[in-house]
Amino acid sequence: MNAKKPLAPRDNGAPDYKNYLHPAMERNYGRWKYHRGIRPGVFVHVSDSGESLYTVRAGSPRMLSAPLLRRVCDIADKFCQGRLRFTSRNNIEFQVEKEEDIQPLIDEIGRVLRFPVGGTGRSFHNIIHTQGWLHCNLPGTDAAGVVKSLMDLFYEEFTHENFPQRVKVSTSCCTINCGGQTDIAVNLQHHHPPAIDHVTINRCELPKVISICPVLAIRPDRTGGRDTVEVVEEKCMYCGACHAQCPALEIRDGDTDTLSIWVGGKSASTRGGPSFMRLATWGLPNNPPRWPEVGDAVRRILKAYQAGANEYERVGEWIGRIGWKNFFAETGFEFTKYHIDSYRWARTTFNTSAHVRL
Ligand code: SF4
Ligand code: SF4
Repeated sequence: MNAKKPLAPRDNGAPDYKNYLHPAMERNYGRWKYHRGIRPGVFVHVSDSGESLYTVRAGSPRMLSAPLLRRVCDIADKFCQGRLRFTSRNNIEFQVEKEEDIQPLIDEIGRVLRFPVGGTGRSFHNIIHTQGWLHCNLPGTDAAGVVKSLMDLFYEEFTHENFPQRVKVSTSCCTINCGGQTDIAVNLQHHHPPAIDHVTINRCELPKVISICPVLAIRPDRTGGRDTVEVVEEKCMYCGACHAQCPALEIRDGDTDTLSIWVGGKSASTRGGPSFMRLATWGLPNNPPRWPEVGDAVRRILKAYQAGANEYERVGEWIGRIGWKNFFAETGFEFTKYHIDSYRWARTTFNTSAHVRL
């Protein structure tokens, strides 16, 4: 091999992000002293070089058309030296070096894009969500539609910072939940084992679909002279993982699928560390196009959290302090046999594990 031979330019994979940083971000890379919020949706990074970089965060609906994206790029060309950032929560961040450019930029975002500015600090952040009917092969509901309905409902909460701490929300359109661990999550639930199509199943690789079941509920079978599978219904927990592997195992059901709400998850290491979400309420109708029952349930949680949490407490930390009994009393949700009470002082009173059912 000739060591001096130049490598061919890379034409695949993720490009080097450093080529796309705002020039002020590039100049001060690794030298930021601190950052702080200035007003909802706007924060500043201050470098030890003395430079400041102001970021304006606008909430996008995630699914963007090409003409709308062109308008976004025009604003970035006009104000931000042709640079912008997309966050994992589908916000678009515009960065400017001069404080006096902030208001004209916000005005332009409102006038041209009609996007709200907010989603920082102690606000209701833009919702991280999964693909929904538009893209994925599994959805029992449309995560993007639920998000649109919720963000319309909580527009004021997005543009103001009135909560004790940030509120991060996710939605997932199947039980596999690629939405993630958040303060409040809206997840689809199935309520029965998958129906098997013994004719089309021969297009799938049976060993794969058998091995993907997390509780070993699927086993080989023969029906009508064909190789197929059977599902042991007592073992199945209706997760839908088999449907992802083989469409002939149909878990989705428009008549019985419902939505559930989970609370108390977070990824941050702050204070108590990362935590998993837990079930708050379930059996909410999968009710497009506005999912009003979901909006009502989320509002109940937000109201109780706003009224009862201490400053800086995330939703899970607030529940950890007051206990699940008080959480259910204040939100009005029913504590059912499907709930697990992990509150440390509740060992003799509630369901404390998946094996104990009162
Ligand atoms: S949550 Fe499930 S259905 Fe929705 S995009 Fe993720 S894997 Fe697909
Ligand atoms: S739904 Fe989940 S638990 Fe039930 S058979 Fe499929 S993979 Fe197994």
